[in-house]
Amino acid sequence: MNELQKRTWAEVSLENIRHNYRAIRASLPGGCRFMGIVKADAYGHGAPAVARLLQEEGADYLAVSCLDEALELRREGIRMPILILGHTPCEYTEQLIEEDLTQTVTCLAKALEYSAQAVRLGRELKTHFKLDTGMSRLGFLCAGSYFEEGVENLIRAARLPGLLPEGIYTHFSSSDEDGPEAEAYTREQFALFLRVIGAVKERGGVEFSLRHCANSGAVVRFPETALDMVRPGLLLYGYGDPSGRLGLRPCMRLVTTVSTIKFYEPGTCISYGRRFTTQKRSRIGVLAVGYADGLPRLLSGRCSFAAPGGYAPQVGAVCMDMCMVDLSELPETDVDSEIELFGEKNDIYKLSDAAQTIPYELLCSVSKRVPRVYK
Ligand SMILES: *Cc1c(COP(=O)(O)O)cnc(C)c1O
Repeated sequence: MNELQKRTWAEVSLENIRHNYRAIRASLPGGCRFMGIVKADAYGHGAPAVARLLQEEGADYLAVSCLDEALELRREGIRMPILILGHTPCEYTEQLIEEDLTQTVTCLAKALEYSAQAVRLGRELKTHFKLDTGMSRLGFLCAGSYFEEGVENLIRAARLPGLLPEGIYTHFSSSDEDGPEAEAYTREQFALFLRVIGAVKERGGVEFSLRHCANSGAVVRFPETALDMVRPGLLLYGYGDPSGRLGLRPCMRLVTTVSTIKFYEPGTCISYGRRFTTQKRSRIGVLAVGYADGLPRLLSGRCSFAAPGGYAPQVGAVCMDMCMVDLSELPETDVDSEIELFGEKNDIYKLSDAAQTIPYELLCSVSKRVPRVYK
């Protein structure tokens, strides 16, 4: 980032990501592998930098959401195994094989398509089969009345020519939720996952060397789900460990600057829609950050940011590129002062709660125009 252009930036601590990786790793049962989730530009932290760090640290696998994200990592020189979690049209089978990418297979029909393409090329595609055990998103149906058909389809798919079925996985919908119902749901998903794996082995003689299901919530709350490999995303970036057991550290600080400060008389309307009117003579600062940078407009008038001398309440509607704060009680904050939107001083959960969302969304909403500055 050009120092003279100081506007808004995301400070990313690779040291903290390294610390988190090691802390999670140390908590795993011996021999358990680690798949680092770096989809969505590593939850906004910058996928190439995070992937390089994980490669250097000896992580076993990476996962991204789509082919383009995987290709970006290959272009950046990442040689680790990479799993694509989402759908890739079978027309890209050659590119998947060429780039040594692992493709998720989510149903028999797609297995047949990939197989046909691979056979045509005379090559083999590395695959992980995904089971739908209760997330009701991607994956072979296998719950309830679908069990028999699910097992049969998996066996058929695993035996197709041109496919190298290396892994089998499922995804938990509620492993990060408190309460007996959520816990029971996760346990049922896990039990079904194991039952399907058992039946596929028993009836078809098919075994997968990498069985994985533990997302961040499960790594923390259901250590018994670790199996051959865990798949944490959020934990790596320092969140989602409510007990603090792992001692993780947040890795991103979103920082902006004060562009200008003015005094307004009582009764002055601030920003679009005149949602805020000064009650007294007020010292109002304009921040160089708006919803185009990833600050949700829903936060208008509902949050405060860490400024020199204390916390500055945000006032008036958040605009595309700017928003206003009341600095009346913060004489130490001046033009060019640095303001932390979230990070060490301003807990991201304060903002995500106020925006009726989760830290995931705030992290990956930090937009492309916000430079990532690595420490
Ligand atoms: C995003 C994702 C993860 C990681 O989830 P976290 O809650 O961030 O740990 C794991 N597995 C799959 C399939 C995912 O889509």
